[in-house]
Amino acid sequence: MSDAPVIGHYIDGQLQDSGERFANVFNPATGRVQARVALASQKTVDDAVASAMKAFPAWSEQSALRRARVMFRFKELLDQHQNELAELITREHGKVLSDARGEVTRGIEIVEFACGAPSLLKTDFSDNIGGIDNWNLRQPLGVCAGVTPFNFPVMVPLWMIPLALVSGNCFILKPSERDPSASLLMARLLTQAGLPDGVFNVVQGDKAAVDGLLQHPDIEAISFVGSTPIAEYIHRQATSRGKRVQALGGAKNHMVVMPDADLDQAADALIGAAYGSAGERCMAISIAVAVGEVGDRLIEKLRPRIDQLKIGNGMQGDSDMGPLVTAEHKARVEGFTDQGVAQGAQLLVDGRGFKVPGAEQGFFVGATLFDGVTTEMSIYQEEIFGPVLGIVRVADFASAVALVNAHEFGNGVSCFTRDGGVARAFARSIKVGMVGINVPIPVPMAWHSFGGWKRSLFGDHHAYGEEGLRFYSRYKSVMQRWPDSIAKGPEFSMPTAK
Ligand code: NAD
Repeated sequence: MSDAPVIGHYIDGQLQDSGERFANVFNPATGRVQARVALASQKTVDDAVASAMKAFPAWSEQSALRRARVMFRFKELLDQHQNELAELITREHGKVLSDARGEVTRGIEIVEFACGAPSLLKTDFSDNIGGIDNWNLRQPLGVCAGVTPFNFPVMVPLWMIPLALVSGNCFILKPSERDPSASLLMARLLTQAGLPDGVFNVVQGDKAAVDGLLQHPDIEAISFVGSTPIAEYIHRQATSRGKRVQALGGAKNHMVVMPDADLDQAADALIGAAYGSAGERCMAISIAVAVGEVGDRLIEKLRPRIDQLKIGNGMQGDSDMGPLVTAEHKARVEGFTDQGVAQGAQLLVDGRGFKVPGAEQGFFVGATLFDGVTTEMSIYQEEIFGPVLGIVRVADFASAVALVNAHEFGNGVSCFTRDGGVARAFARSIKVGMVGINVPIPVPMAWHSFGGWKRSLFGDHHAYGEEGLRFYSRYKSVMQRWPDSIAKGPEFSMPTAK
């Protein structure tokens, strides 16, 4: 559809819709192409990096307070444009509007955290160590890049942008080509907030744009969020070129349901965490681990709740769950259900072939529930990223912990119990980066940090919070003394504190 509007890049404070290649952007609820996104060539990437390099000296010399003031204005503009951003998300991603608004709010919280930059970047000072003073600096890295996934087109870029900018860096965002519009609105709002041209640029694109950023000698650091194979690739490529990198990957999150849990609460939590956003969340629960005799009772609670789920166009009214992002992804998710059946899992609720009346071409998949899932099945091992929940039955708490710890992913996990001792043992022994106790989706707040373990994160820093600030700044230690405190004559032994 060549007359569809073009979604372009944002470079040096200007929208640019030039491109040699384009990709279709769909409305997942209708299945129709609604726009075309430009896919950056190496020249476009080079232009964005050149613009950022030009802006870096002046921006990095601004005080943290002045940089924070831009964030304050950006936050106000995000508040004013919250509905517009949420609508852009729903139109291109498909998640329901209330969920999209929640995403924007969680993103704004990182901006609010970054507004504290003068205090956050303040460092330590040790006075008078034998006439010497020792203090630290946190200095910007230079030009940083972020590559983000389709499932949070506002929140995940905002895990990166505010902290990179208040730390004095310039930033280039390469958003997902599936839902690229929100990034352009955020770029315009940053300019409106007073950010100098070139400090923040957006290049739209696919693998070619990402490779262009990875290979560019002037990019100092890359933050990536997406699937595990690409995270591993980015991590390998970036480290081999001496770049700083944090690459957050995929997930397979378990919820352990203990026999003493409040099963109504556990079932409500499972329904929201498995089927919310059609399962397209890296913190979605896709495996319920039923401990002891809890399995049958849990299924009794889940079935009526699944029957009551409202599935439809996220822009319209009261849907709980929207479509998947593309036709290919819908086919992949339904393919996993085929595999689960073929490998012997018991399909209790089948979401394949689900149609919404009046939107038959939309990329909808119904809620799907399996019992009797075992560890050798692909629906247990792999990330499905759709509304498919599997139940694994285990005999006791120790087996539940061993099961979770043996999985290759370690992003999020949850345990529902009333027993404080079990909760404490779970939190301490589980090999997963983010743990919920009676909380199904334990996404840390903006002033903590987000990240998984094992093959869910490659790199040394988690995202946002203090970890984010450390990632986006280089640590320097300064020791200083003045002539009147210098001892006479050379010293040949290792200096020690006097
Ligand atoms: P994806 O890996 O397909 O794409 C992520 C980004 O990488 C996009 O910008 C895309 O354009 C780019 N990309 C795709 N293929 C590439 C290639 N071959 N080379 C270089 N770049 C490439 O992921 P997605 O489908 O957009 O998002 C879903 C995935 O993201 C899921 O696996 C989900 O678990 C994960 N995710 C993880 C977190 C987390 O915090 N751990 C958060 C959100 C999403």
